[in-house]
Amino acid sequence: MKIQTKQYINGEWVDSASGETLDVINPANEEVLGKIAKGNKEDVDKAVDAANDVYLEFRHSSVEFRRDLLDKIVQEYKNRKDDIVEAITDELGSPLEVSKNVHYEMGLAHFTEARDALDNFEFEEKRGDDLVVKEAIGVAGLITPWNFPTNQTSLKLAAAFAAGSPVVLKPSEMTPFAAIILAEIFDKVGVPKGVFNLVNGGGEGVGNPLSENPKVRMMSFTGSGPTGAKIMKKAADDFKKVSLELGGKSPYIILDDSDIDGAAEAAVGKVYNNTGQVCTAGTRTIVPESMKDDFIKAAKEKMSQVKVGDPREKGVQMGPIISKKQFDQVEDYIQKGIDEGAELVLGGVGKPEGLEKGYFAKPTIFANVTNDMTIAQEEIFGPVMSIITYKDLNEAIKIANDTKYGLAGYVYGKDLNTLRKVAREIEAGTIEINEAGRKPDLPFGGYKQSGLGREWGDYGIEEFLEIKSIAGYYE
Ligand code: NAD
Repeated sequence: MKIQTKQYINGEWVDSASGETLDVINPANEEVLGKIAKGNKEDVDKAVDAANDVYLEFRHSSVEFRRDLLDKIVQEYKNRKDDIVEAITDELGSPLEVSKNVHYEMGLAHFTEARDALDNFEFEEKRGDDLVVKEAIGVAGLITPWNFPTNQTSLKLAAAFAAGSPVVLKPSEMTPFAAIILAEIFDKVGVPKGVFNLVNGGGEGVGNPLSENPKVRMMSFTGSGPTGAKIMKKAADDFKKVSLELGGKSPYIILDDSDIDGAAEAAVGKVYNNTGQVCTAGTRTIVPESMKDDFIKAAKEKMSQVKVGDPREKGVQMGPIISKKQFDQVEDYIQKGIDEGAELVLGGVGKPEGLEKGYFAKPTIFANVTNDMTIAQEEIFGPVMSIITYKDLNEAIKIANDTKYGLAGYVYGKDLNTLRKVAREIEAGTIEINEAGRKPDLPFGGYKQSGLGREWGDYGIEEFLEIKSIAGYYE
């Protein structure tokens, strides 16, 4: 049993004010795997005060100091690889290989990228006799979700440290142990007291007082739209800066010159990856009418081969859904797809055979989906593909953009001009052509209801900076 019922405030592990705890559940077996502190306003205020006490000192620290700090974090993060991988597999239920090759690596990439971005980052710009200075915003409140426990935390922490902003982090109460390891890493490498503070607990108990605290200058949030809206409303009271990374319902456009096997494999991967619990999941698979039958056949074949099961078992590609609540939500959406007349090609409601314990869902494919159906418009956050057909490219782009979201978009095919045209016309913050992969030095964020602001690399550092102009600096 993992137990950490203290909070990390002002450079030490301290008792949590309430003395109460929260259970953390292993989604693969539904058993309690650990306990964390159930923080409250008192903990939050203490953490914010600690950060506020050092914000000027950290703001004025040298770039070399912060680069060196990030470098030490990178080294110690690597030393803790096995612990991070184990923690993520336990609390998120992601297969060991995925925890290792995706979750661990993404965290590492963000710390490495922020460190390297500092080599060329211009914090000052001379304009004639005047100077423009970019300096750290001050205390930042960070709130993160459960679906990528090290990715979301690390990208915000790396950017804040690179900028020189102290932080108070509230990770998801469902996946807190990966963040607790980060706190241990920062403690070990000597992140200055007060620069990093961790307050564990629930959204209402910790997230609310953090968003309301007037000493917090900025809230950086990743999670669902409704929670993002709550944070934004609270932040509006004292005009805090807000950066939001929210949900998505991303299109995957398959061009008519695609090799069907490759296209199906790529599109299926975008659906079952992380059990579909991915904000950028390309779950609206938009396929030429002429290819429909062959594509459905190929996608069905690929999806049936996805091995679902115990995340610790070798060869398993898809683990459970994070919680009972999320599992029920996925099931409801699948049922809604059936009720609204989509054609169930594979999967459906209920657990896969032999996996009654744990929140396992069936990899599911719907065909004959129209873009106005609930399963085409709402974020399911489970392994459910919706195949929608198009007659010409204009219609494909229209379908792709007919959503309240705009986080990601994907296109697959051969003709480079068409691939580029589609990439330019999808209204979303991040586009991938032919599975090019997402690189940590490229900005990440959403259009429309998918968010505000950009993260990752130098764009992420910018989020934690204020801009000051000093006229007459050079006389
Ligand atoms: P969530 O909004 O329920 O929770 C996210 C975090 O907010 C958690 O730490 C939670 O404790 C906290 N929270 C809850 N209520 C709060 C409140 N009133 N005030 C402050 N904090 C509060 O989201 P989730 O279920 O953890 O994550 C899933 C959602 O996150 C999905 O919609 C997904 O698309 C989105 N997401 C977006 C991105 C992105 O980068 N755009 C990345 C991952 C996940």
